[in-house]
Amino acid sequence: MNEIRAIVVGAAGRMGKMLVRAIAEAEDFRLVGATERPGSALLGKDAGEVAGVGTLGVELKAELAQCPDADVVIDFTTPKATLRHAEIAQQRGMRLVVGTTGFSREERKHLEAIAHETGAVIAANFSIGVNLCLALVEQAARALGDGFDLEIVEAHHRRKVDAPSGTALALAEAAARAKGVLLDQVAVFAREGIVGERKQGTIGFAVVRGGGVIGEHRVLFLGEKEVVEIRHEALDRAVFAAGALHAARWLVRQPLGLYSMREVLGLN
Ligand code: NAD
Repeated sequence: MNEIRAIVVGAAGRMGKMLVRAIAEAEDFRLVGATERPGSALLGKDAGEVAGVGTLGVELKAELAQCPDADVVIDFTTPKATLRHAEIAQQRGMRLVVGTTGFSREERKHLEAIAHETGAVIAANFSIGVNLCLALVEQAARALGDGFDLEIVEAHHRRKVDAPSGTALALAEAAARAKGVLLDQVAVFAREGIVGERKQGTIGFAVVRGGGVIGEHRVLFLGEKEVVEIRHEALDRAVFAAGALHAARWLVRQPLGLYSMREVLGLN
């Protein structure tokens, strides 16, 4: 296959810069477009310079509509921006790799409907380790059964805006699916005051925010006499960018449809 022509939207964000860097270093990718939010002081600047990899000849635009055609749009921005990008990508026949988290249920439904038609990988986490953990959590939830209480603890940097993290929710969904229940019916997102004893079968969340923590997830299966813990820690955002590029490479060879990172990695 020829070079994969890619657009990075939100290219001056923490992940956006990582993606521009990863594309600049990959031999099989070419950055053909990059955007930032309308009003950003960086509009008009070179995406490579903003990302610290030197001039790439790609100016930051305020709209995806102003970018040339590409094989794939890579989007780690905000839910509202991602929905807009997905509509444009669909109209122009560009595939989508979405890492944005924090969608409401309605937003997620809308995105998935578009994604099915345009060809997309949507994942709350693009690291191979977390996707392996999703499979392990499913296996553990099935094997350990109701005698073990399930709690998820996640930690992220002080600038993260959504909670619990998309990855924590995905881990909980994997466990709920294995137990044959709906996460909405068993999730306990907060505890404060006299909340009473723990209800059997619930999945509890605890959220830590601070400093520069890139992302830590712990899934605890707490039994009366033993505890099983599945833990993942991201040490570098580059792991998500590498995963997103891997997903894009895979996606451009697939029929149109909506895919998960577990499918990309063959972990299903
Ligand atoms: P960030 O705030 O540093 O970056 C987001 C960027 O998007 C910002 O630069 C912002 O200006 C830009 N943006 C907002 N609206 C835009 C628009 N309309 N057009 C173009 N750009 C726009 O945040 P981040 O840490 O890079 O995270 C971004 C998202 O990715 C979050 O939802 C985060 O949870 C998620 N994330 C996912 C993974 C994963 O593996 N799936 C990993 C890390 C972060």
